[in-house]
Amino acid sequence: MTKDKVLALDIGGTNTRLGLVGRGGAIEGFRRLRSSEWNQDRPLERLGDLMEDYLKQEAPGGVLAISMGFPGAVDKTCRTLVNVPTIPELDGAPVADVLEERFKTPVFIDNDVVMLYFQAAQELNMPQSEVTLCFFIGTGLGNLIVLDGKVHVGAQGIAAELGHIPVYGKDGLCGCGNRGCAELYCAGHGMVSLRNRHYPGEDPDLLFTLHVNEAPVQEYLDLLAQVMATEMIILDPDTVLMGGGIVAMPDFPFEMLRAKVSGRLRGRDTGEKIRWFRATDAQRAGVAGAGLYAFNRLGGAK
Ligand SMILES: [Zn+2]
Repeated sequence: MTKDKVLALDIGGTNTRLGLVGRGGAIEGFRRLRSSEWNQDRPLERLGDLMEDYLKQEAPGGVLAISMGFPGAVDKTCRTLVNVPTIPELDGAPVADVLEERFKTPVFIDNDVVMLYFQAAQELNMPQSEVTLCFFIGTGLGNLIVLDGKVHVGAQGIAAELGHIPVYGKDGLCGCGNRGCAELYCAGHGMVSLRNRHYPGEDPDLLFTLHVNEAPVQEYLDLLAQVMATEMIILDPDTVLMGGGIVAMPDFPFEMLRAKVSGRLRGRDTGEKIRWFRATDAQRAGVAGAGLYAFNRLGGAK
């Protein structure tokens, strides 16, 4: 019986993960594939084909809804993608309408960070708070501002794009079209170039285990702390959630980063008063979150 489940997709720059999610967030039929299998040419059509094949195999009876998290900005109505740096062909694509027409079932799309927040809030039992800031450090730097339990989307629906604030003195070309964006230097891309430059040929998973106190890694963490502190100084959060593939790496120096961020905040013990949460499952969280998000959007519908 799948008609009580949601087909949930976590679209990443590198991997696409999908599965059937039940009301409580449990996943069945989890799959992971390279995003390059569909995102190179006519991406929306090919992604649709892939979803159709999956549904034929895993949910022939249909699903309650389809829910998708994208690594980019979604318009305020959550129907159209505004800007997806890793899949520029989808910029401006009315994804929800196109897929709803094709599958004849409700389709929800949103920024992947929103999905991750839904999953973490349930799994970590996060308390209601005035200001929650989320930082997901994966391929890019995902960011979310939640005010009194409500996601702050902004006038155009593109608020909280902290990964795209400019870093002084940097000029690398970002997928968003601008130069010197923070996420090029303090998320996945920055980590890859750091490894290639300073620790070529080493097991990437051991970066923090072997080199955490060395200058290149410290500089990386300093920039990340600076970017996080910038938003925290402006919004004075009571709760902070961190997650993403880099935070889930072995020996990620969570306490060290927290100390670096706290040292930059206004007020001596502000960092101590903040409730910090850390999401550690970077593999399935986006899929579970997309499912939970859909159930939330569907309301009490059975
Ligand atoms: Zn950018």
